[in-house]
Amino acid sequence: MENLDRLKAIFGGKEITLPHHIRILMSLKKEYGISEISYGEIIKMVHDKGEQSAKMRDFLKNEVLKLLYECGECPLHLAECHTQKVPGDGDWNSPLMLIGEGPGFEEDKQGKPFVGRAGQLLTAILNKLNIDRKKVYITNVVKCRPPMNRTPQSKEIKACKRILELELEFIAPKVIITLGSVPLNYFKPNSSIMQSRGQWIYKRGFWIMPTFHPAYILRQGGETLKRVKWQVWGDFNKAIEKVRELSDYKFN
Ligand code: SF4
Repeated sequence: MENLDRLKAIFGGKEITLPHHIRILMSLKKEYGISEISYGEIIKMVHDKGEQSAKMRDFLKNEVLKLLYECGECPLHLAECHTQKVPGDGDWNSPLMLIGEGPGFEEDKQGKPFVGRAGQLLTAILNKLNIDRKKVYITNVVKCRPPMNRTPQSKEIKACKRILELELEFIAPKVIITLGSVPLNYFKPNSSIMQSRGQWIYKRGFWIMPTFHPAYILRQGGETLKRVKWQVWGDFNKAIEKVRELSDYKFN
C-alpha cells in the first residue's frame, strides 16, 4: 500500500496500526485508482449515483463484513445462545438508519436484524409509511445475541463500537432512528428514553430521533398500548419528514 509505505517512512519504518476506517478507505482508493482526494470526498463519491459508486459501496460493505465475521472482541460470540453474528441489513445508500439494541433469538438463528416479532412490527410500521424495508439500513449496537436477550453490557457495547462506527462512517445517514434506550445512550449517554423520546438530537452531523423499541410496544396493553403506538408513529413520521427535507431519496 503506497500511502502506508510513505507513512512508515515518516515514522522511521515502525509498524503503524491505522484506524479501521482509514485502512479500508486506503484500500478502496487503491482498488479504484483514486488519487489524492480527502476521505470526506471519497464518502461523497461512494454515495453518488452510478455503477462505480454502487461497486464502491459493495467493497466497503464486504470489508466491514470481513471485520465483523472475524471479530472476537467480546465474549458474546462465545455465549451458548450464539449461532452467528448478525450484520446490519439494507441499502448502503440510504439516508435513513435504524439502530436497535442487539439480536434476539430469531435474528441469531436467521443472521438478520429485526426478523422476530419486534422486527415484524417494525416492518409493518415501515410498510404503513409506504417504505420498502430494503430501502432503509437496519442495524444494532451489538452484533451478537446477548444471553437471555439481556441488555448488552457497557464493555460489550464498547467492544462492538468499531463495527457500528464503520457503518456510520461509510453509510453516512442523514437521519437515524434509535430504537430503545441502548442506542439512544450510545449517542447521548445518561439519557432516559421516557424523557428523550420524540425529541431531536443533532450530533456528529446526524439528526437522531429517539423512539421506543418495537419489543417495548409489544409488551404494552390497553390504553398504554394505544398511546405508545401513536407516539412511535409520530416519531417515525417526523424522521421521514426530515429525510425528505434533506434528500430526494425514494423509499420505494
Ligand atoms: S458483540 Fe460485537 S464485539 Fe462482541 S464478539 Fe460480537 S461482533 Fe465482536
